[in-house]
Amino acid sequence: MPDLAPASLLAQLDTQPRVRDFLARAVTSGRTSHAYLFLGAPGSGKLDAAWALAQALVCEHGGCGSCEACVRVARHTHPDVHYYAPESVTGYLIGQTRDLIEDVSLAPIRAKTKVYIIDQADRLRADSANALLKTLEEPPAGVTFILLGTSAETILPTIVSRCQCVPFRMVAPADAARAVAQATGATEPRCRMAVAVAGSPVRAIAFLKSAERQEARRTMLRSLDALPHADELDILRAAKELIMAVKAPLAEVKSTQEAVLSQNADYLSRGALKQLEDRQKRELNARERSGMMEVLASARSLMRDVLLTLEDAGGIVNEDAHETVGRLAAATTVPGAVRAIRAVTAAERTIARNITPQLALEVMLLDIRKALLCRS
Ligand SMILES: [Zn+2]
Repeated sequence: MPDLAPASLLAQLDTQPRVRDFLARAVTSGRTSHAYLFLGAPGSGKLDAAWALAQALVCEHGGCGSCEACVRVARHTHPDVHYYAPESVTGYLIGQTRDLIEDVSLAPIRAKTKVYIIDQADRLRADSANALLKTLEEPPAGVTFILLGTSAETILPTIVSRCQCVPFRMVAPADAARAVAQATGATEPRCRMAVAVAGSPVRAIAFLKSAERQEARRTMLRSLDALPHADELDILRAAKELIMAVKAPLAEVKSTQEAVLSQNADYLSRGALKQLEDRQKRELNARERSGMMEVLASARSLMRDVLLTLEDAGGIVNEDAHETVGRLAAATTVPGAVRAIRAVTAAERTIARNITPQLALEVMLLDIRKALLCRS
């Protein structure tokens, strides 16, 4: 395996050593493909690997982990690394693909290269996929595409054939937590919690470094703890507080976006500026959605602990919140906890469909309260 700086994102892909070594070799030899397709189940760390490869590509030292470009990629604020996710229930919008294709032809802003991460490539519909094919086959020099999908069978063959496929293996949560513990020095219980909330090792490492993301989780746990005694007003207030907590980490993204806008204000046409602004707005929305998904994952994980406690099953993940778990378990029954978990799932679905997050949270908290207090 080529030498990787310990701070680099690639070095952190401990749970996928074969992928890590393969990508590191490609970067050090300067022979990366212009289009990759990362394939694996959710939680296998595909998105982590995508950001890691992006970092290695835009850093002038192959992903040192400490230069400004590396830090920006790690914080997802590098203006030349673009992340796309489907914006409608049915998948990618044709407008998103057009936007992407137009952006590909623009010169990079900070780095010498540009990277496009296309999440859930399984949800590229035929119309948007067709528009993308030519660009995917012959992108301008210095452009790399990283597409993510569950399996080659669920992705249009015309896309698969234009990409270099990289298979990811399944990662057990215990292995993921061990990798996070090694990278951060945090205790294993904290790492297990971080993996449950953030979903993958690299995101768990970033979560443990972000005071704001951890505060958003704590806000969610406090709201759930107070639910059995909350009235409607308390719930509206809790939902508002949660939204503010989710938005707190976005301040940095916003200021980076403003800087990029003002850097471009002098030489971009009005139309192009408007496009850039729209793109930034979309990105911010996507970031807010992923922050929402993280607090919902905190809620799910806590309610799962409540269920395990009621069933005397052990294996609690939120050890730092065991008092809350105990209180909620005392206030409800097994069917109540199961219904509460379903309410979280329903909220995840509505937020994925672009329903106003505040409304989704209010409905979820009301439903969980009802579930908790239900005695049948
Ligand atoms: Zn660097």
